[in-house]
Amino acid sequence: MKVLGIETSCDETGVAVYDTARAGADGLLAHAVYSQIDLHAQYGGVVPELASRDHVRKLLPLIRQTLAEAGLDIRDLDGVAYTAGPGLVGALLVGAGVARSLAWALEVPAVAVHHMEGHLLAPLIENDPPEPPFVALLVSGGHTQLVAVDAIGRYRLLGETLDDAAGEAFDKTAKLMGLPYPGGPQLARLAEAGTPGRYKFARPMTDRPGLDFSFSGLKTQVLLAWRDSDQSDQTKADIARGFEDAVVETLAIKCQRALDAAGCDTLIVAGGVGANKRLRQRLHEMTERRIGGRVCFPRLELCTDNGAMIAFAGALRLEAGQHEDAQVKVTPRWDMATLPQVQAPAVA
Ligand code: ATP
Ligand code: MG
Ligand code: FE
Repeated sequence: MKVLGIETSCDETGVAVYDTARAGADGLLAHAVYSQIDLHAQYGGVVPELASRDHVRKLLPLIRQTLAEAGLDIRDLDGVAYTAGPGLVGALLVGAGVARSLAWALEVPAVAVHHMEGHLLAPLIENDPPEPPFVALLVSGGHTQLVAVDAIGRYRLLGETLDDAAGEAFDKTAKLMGLPYPGGPQLARLAEAGTPGRYKFARPMTDRPGLDFSFSGLKTQVLLAWRDSDQSDQTKADIARGFEDAVVETLAIKCQRALDAAGCDTLIVAGGVGANKRLRQRLHEMTERRIGGRVCFPRLELCTDNGAMIAFAGALRLEAGQHEDAQVKVTPRWDMATLPQVQAPAVA
C-alpha cells in the first residue's frame, strides 16, 4: 500500500510516500520538508496565521516534488494520511483540507494521524525495528513525555513535563544567551566547544521518585550564571555545555527509571531533541548496561517534524482498516491515550 503523508501542524510542511510492500527503511520512497523558520525568525516565534498561509503556498508544490522523487503518478496512491492534531488549528486545516480532497478525488481512504504518535513511530521506519512492548521518550518543542507502549496504538503516559518541554528549554536558554531563534540546535553546537564541568546545573526532580520533569528552573539558573559571567565566547560555550549535560543527564536518569518501572529493556526516542548527539550517546551507554538493552532513534532528519512519520503511522492504521469519513476535521488538542489500538492486518 502506497500512502501519502502530509504534516502541517506547526511551522514545517512535510510530505512523504511510504510503501508498506517494502521492508523497513526501503518503504520510505521519498520525503521532503519545507521549514518556515526564516519566515518566523523576525518575530522570535511561530505566528499562526503566517504559518497557515505558507502551508497553503508550499503544500501542493511539495506533493508534486515528492511524487516525482518517488517515481509515482498521483493515481498510484492507495491512501492519504494527514496530521489532524495536536497543533495550530489553521495550519492543521490546510493539511487536512488538501488530504481529504485528494483522497476524495482519487477515491482512496484518508486517515487522521496524531502528531505525537507520528513522532513516536518514527524510529520504527528504520531497519530492524523494535517490537512492543517498549518505553518511548518523546522530546520535542512542545512535549516531554515518557510513554509505555504496550502495542501500536496502546499508549500509557508514565510521566511528562510540568512546565517547559525539553526542546522549549533549549530554545529559551539559547535565546537568553543571545542566539537567534530557534536556538536549540545552535546551543547544542556551541556546547561541543564547551568545557565539561565548568558550569554544573541541577538535574531537576531526579532526587525524588517519579517520572515527571521540570525544565523551567534550569533556564533561571543559566540566566543567573550568564548574567554574572564575563560573557566571553568560551564562557557561552561552557554554559551551553553545562546546560546540555543537565538536560541529557536528567533525561537519562528518568529513562532508566521508566524502563525499570515498565519492566522492559527497549527504549525508543523521538522528537527534535532526539537529534541531540550527546543525548543519543548517553542513552546508548545507559541501555547497553542492561541485559538485552537497546535504544532506537530515527535518523536525524526524522527526529524533527516531517511527513515520513505521518505516512508511516497512517499506513499502519489504514492497513488495519481505519479511515475517516468525508468531512474535514482536525483535533488541535488530542490525548494520545484515547487512540484506538492498531490491530495487525488479517493474514489472507
Ligand atoms: P511538538 O512535536 O511537541 O508539537 P515541534 O514539532 O515543534 O513540537 P520538533 O519539530 O519535534 O518539535 O522539534 C523541535 C525542537 O527540537 C526545537 O525545540 C529544537 O530546539 C529542538 N532540537 C532540534 N535539534 C536539537 C538538538 N540537536 N539538540 C537539542 N534540541 C534540538
Ligand atoms: Mg518546527
Ligand atoms: Fe513535532
